[in-house]
Amino acid sequence: MNESVALTGQVLWVIGVVAWYVIRYPFERRARKVRVVSSRRTASEIVGLAAAVIGMAVVPAIHVATGMPRFADYPPQAWAVALGAVVYAYGLWLFRRSHKELGRNWSITLEIRENHRLVRTGPYALVRHPMYTSFLLMAVGQALLIANWAVAAAGLLGFAVLAVLRIGTEERMMAEIFGEEYVGYMGRTKRIVPFVY
Ligand code: SAH
Repeated sequence: MNESVALTGQVLWVIGVVAWYVIRYPFERRARKVRVVSSRRTASEIVGLAAAVIGMAVVPAIHVATGMPRFADYPPQAWAVALGAVVYAYGLWLFRRSHKELGRNWSITLEIRENHRLVRTGPYALVRHPMYTSFLLMAVGQALLIANWAVAAAGLLGFAVLAVLRIGTEERMMAEIFGEEYVGYMGRTKRIVPFVY
């Protein structure tokens, strides 16, 4: 019983990660065609991205493939797997929704593109970083789907490192480029959690 619950959670996580890539891939391709006019690809940017990829993809993938680190396993619960699937799916939906809303303004790193427009619609009407909200949802989903403390910690830590290293710099960059327009937008929205933070 325990084994089939654990396996279900792991299979759902794998499906989620594949869906993540299927959603992102067309935006990565399209982004190559839009000229970048200003880039802030700094060392801390790269560390943040790497932390998110390690915590939310590499560590759980190693666990699913090898069972390691076994000392951090705990008894899986069916309710946690079910809830994790819902939270992860909601994260994926928001991830896709945010990509669509940003459209040609999207970049994997901090960049300003030719004819960059400030997007304030859809999920961007509520929070300034809905894509990072979707990462948080997926990190929480991962923690619920996979019954292993190390995997849960890696995902949440990966998200936290990315958010801390990126959000301040991103907002300064946007404020420099869009001035009052962005400052006013900051006054009307929260960062990651609607109405809270
Ligand atoms: N932080 C946002 C976007 C992540 S993608 C989110 O979490 O949803 C990163 C790129 O998006 C950055 O290079 C920046 O130029 C761009 N960007 C961020 N907010 C934007 C906005 N409101 N309108 C247009 N582009 C934005």
